[in-house]
Amino acid sequence: MTLEAHLLDRIAREGPLSVAEYMTDCLLHPTLGYYTTRDPLGAAGDFTTAPEISQMFGELIGLALAQAWMDQGCPAPFTLAELGPGRGTLMADILRATKSVPGFLDAAQITLIEASPVLRQKQRDMLLGSAVHWIETTNHLPDAPLFLVANEFIDALPIRQFVRTGPGWRERCIGAPDGKLAFGLGPPGKWADLDHRLEDTKDGDLIETCRPAQAILDDIGHRIETFGGAGLIIDYGDWRTLGDTLQAVRAHEYVDPLSAPGQADLTAHVDFEALCADVPCAHTRVTPQGIFLERLGISQRAEALAKTGCQARKDVIVAHHRLTHPTEMGNLFKTLGLFPTNGPPPPGLDP
Ligand code: SAH
Repeated sequence: MTLEAHLLDRIAREGPLSVAEYMTDCLLHPTLGYYTTRDPLGAAGDFTTAPEISQMFGELIGLALAQAWMDQGCPAPFTLAELGPGRGTLMADILRATKSVPGFLDAAQITLIEASPVLRQKQRDMLLGSAVHWIETTNHLPDAPLFLVANEFIDALPIRQFVRTGPGWRERCIGAPDGKLAFGLGPPGKWADLDHRLEDTKDGDLIETCRPAQAILDDIGHRIETFGGAGLIIDYGDWRTLGDTLQAVRAHEYVDPLSAPGQADLTAHVDFEALCADVPCAHTRVTPQGIFLERLGISQRAEALAKTGCQARKDVIVAHHRLTHPTEMGNLFKTLGLFPTNGPPPPGLDP
């Protein structure tokens, strides 16, 4: 059975699906989902990410986490966690870069949260030789100081969409009126937790919510506040999003999100304001990735790598540009730092 057939069957039985239900099936259906059945990253895949572009990204993130750990008195043991680690490249670069930080790796219990069995295997291969373990959700994190990174993870979590109608909203959903998947709108209703968006929207505007992201931030924020630690959340999005940001990417091209369920990556922009609205620890200002990486010293690192050879020089210049330039990933991607109230913010970020 194809995922499309499964979705049509589900709609016939249960009625229209919310965008969140559609995203969850598309990305994580146990046998037909996009992430569950493939490694989507890299030139031969559907999309690429900062750690896959250059080792500089993971090295700087690793050193930022190690600095945050030292700023909090080198707690031991602690959890070094990553959410949605893809191929394990970011964690491999973090581990290599922090080898020279005295005591850091000895005290680190490396924990990965990954839903895809295919990508878990990739991570196992990439991190061979390091003691790594996997858990299902952030609820299962140990009660210990938590130093965590999540790059392009929150954007993969299921969103719901609502269209403003007068003083209320209609949920955008996916049905199959002519036997083909199509967007539609549910009946008008009121959602108390959307009331604050009545201030900045007008009739016909579309807003998005991502409860699973808020639940995860609540969980890790609670641990950081209680046990100490720091979180670096890096993703595309803005302080407040407005409008339809659901997008599908296949073979490095945008496609219609309903055209190839389970065959294309589905993401949505991160609404950082909603993400940190109730987070139970302190958070930094949202900082563009380019500025964050420059503050961490990406230009100095690029110069050092460029000295290793002519090809290296060319590659490093291209990678530096892609990661930091405002017309590339530098401005679209943002970084949010989490830290304990009364503790120091992670390096490169403003409280
Ligand atoms: N961070 C990596 C990969 C980003 S792709 C990088 O920067 O290269 C998104 C990752 O999140 C994949 O590893 C995917 O399998 C994982 N993922 C998506 N939804 C998830 C969920 N609900 N729980 C755990 N992992 C998830």
